[in-house]
This record gives sequence, structure tokens and C-alpha cells, in this order.
Amino acid sequence: MKCKKCGQKASFNMRQHKLALCREHYLEWVPEQTERFIKKYGMFTREDRILVAVSGGKDSLSLWDILIRLGYQADGMYIGLGIDGGIQYSSESQRLTQEFAEARGLKLHVVDVEREHGQSIPMLAMKTHRGFDKPCSVCGLVKRHEMNRIARDLGYNVLATGHNLDDEAAVLFGNTLAWEGTYLLRQGPVLPAADGLARKVKPLCRFYEREMTAYALLSGIEYIYEECPFAEGSTSIYYKELLNQLETTRPGAKLTFYLRFLEARTNGLFREKPEVVQNMHPCSKCGQSTTAPDLCSFCRMIEKVK
Ligand code: SF4
Ligand code: ZN
Repeated sequence: MKCKKCGQKASFNMRQHKLALCREHYLEWVPEQTERFIKKYGMFTREDRILVAVSGGKDSLSLWDILIRLGYQADGMYIGLGIDGGIQYSSESQRLTQEFAEARGLKLHVVDVEREHGQSIPMLAMKTHRGFDKPCSVCGLVKRHEMNRIARDLGYNVLATGHNLDDEAAVLFGNTLAWEGTYLLRQGPVLPAADGLARKVKPLCRFYEREMTAYALLSGIEYIYEECPFAEGSTSIYYKELLNQLETTRPGAKLTFYLRFLEARTNGLFREKPEVVQNMHPCSKCGQSTTAPDLCSFCRMIEKVK
């Protein structure tokens, strides 16, 4: 297999794009494509202040690397979840993220959930009885809240996450199985700023997971290979496996599934439930918008464990 650009030996082949590239040209192609998606979906410009949510995994570190290469103003944010049984997932991913930032002279904000709110994620999950086996719903709630808080307090107007095509297709698959209209409406490369919350963007949403792995490996980014120990056996991993089976027999199926969805969404196939919009108001403690009567679900949880 030869590189389509220079004819040298290819390092990576993308069946679905009928494209093989050598290392050098692959490392050019990924940022070029990212720039194309940023423009196509109107994600941000070089004037915007971007906060990249970095977990120490290949996607978020690659995203940060690509945005810096492309000349965007992108700082990082790492949220310490305190998930440290067995493989020391949190301490190891924090170490790798800090090393990544130091080596490149980038600004990284570290938020430690336990220091900030008195409890780690597993402790919060246990005390609130919201998941003895899996703290994922608590974890998602805390991560969302903290990302919004840091972006607002430090004046970032764009929040970028490293979700790739496999992540997006799996979420889409789950939401489609249940025809979740409101979720479907909100899923996409850009969620506009609203109610004091920063705009949310996913610049890697059209890259296959294996494309991002190749990018991280070929560019020598050191990332955490292990997944969070709680990810094992999750529904989203099961959906990813199903979609991978489909992709094996029909290369490109995953991308088509996602892109056709975006088209349908643009064409107004999904609508917000009116009561959701009407009931939005700021939380009386933290100011983030909520549909709950007084405190948002994050603040209610923190009150409960005090
Ligand atoms: Fe949080 Fe781990 Fe669950 Fe992901 S898998 S939501 S990091 S607890
Ligand atoms: Zn609140």
C-alpha cells in the first residue's frame, strides 16, 4: 500500500475513505480535515477562547494538539475524579495530561472534585445511592457542571471535547432506539451558547476511533491506554461493538449513519418539547440553568451529602 500523496510506503489505510497515507502526510491530513469541519459547522474562530476538556486519553490530547497546531487559542482543563482503585486511573491520566501540557508550554487548569466539593466521584455515588456498581450518572453530572463552571468563571466562550465518530454514533444509536426527540435535537457537532453556558463543540466528531488512535500513536502523544474501570460492560461499549460489526461488512456505514442524521436534524425532523424550554431558569446556588424548581441537580446532590 502506497501513500496517495507521495508514493512512499503508507503507514495507515482508511478503507471507508479509500485513502492510504504515510506518517508525514497522515499527520498533515488529520489537522486539515479538522480545520475543514471547524469551518463547515461554524464551531469557532481564532478570536474565540477555547477550553479543551482533557481526560488523558488519546482523543482529548490529540484534539488539544491539533487545535494548537492549527493556531487556535486553546487551554486545557482536567477534572480529577478520584477514581483510583486498581489501575490508578485518575492519578495516571492526570500525570500524562500534566506532562503533555508542560512539554508544550500549554496552560492547563486542574479541578479536583474531592478538594472542590469534599467528595470524590465514587464517594458521591455511594452517598447519594445513585449507582453502587457504576458511578457514571453522577460522574457525567459532575463533569458537565464543572466544565460549565470553569468556562464561565475563567471567561472561555467555547468548550471543546474529544468525542470521535464512534462515540457519537453509539450515542445516536441509543437515542434512536428510544426515539429520544429532545436528545436527538441536541446531539451534533455544535451546541450553541445558551443561558450563560459556553458553546459546546466536538471537532473530532467525523473521525473514526481508529483514526484518532493512529494520530496519537504516529505523533508520539503519550496517553492512558486503559479505560476508566467503570466503563467495562457499559451500554455504550456494547453499541460500539455492534456498530463495528456493521462497519466490517459495510465500510463507511458508521459515518453515513451519523451524517444522514445531521442532515435530518438540519431539515427539522426533531423538535424540542415546549415544556423543557419554558421551565428553564437559573439555579439559586450556582446560577447554571435547570428545569428543577430551585436548585439544579448538581447542587441538590452536594447539599444532600453535606
Ligand atoms: Fe465517569 Fe468512568 Fe463512568 Fe466514564 S466510565 S462516566 S469516567 S465513572
Ligand atoms: Zn446549581
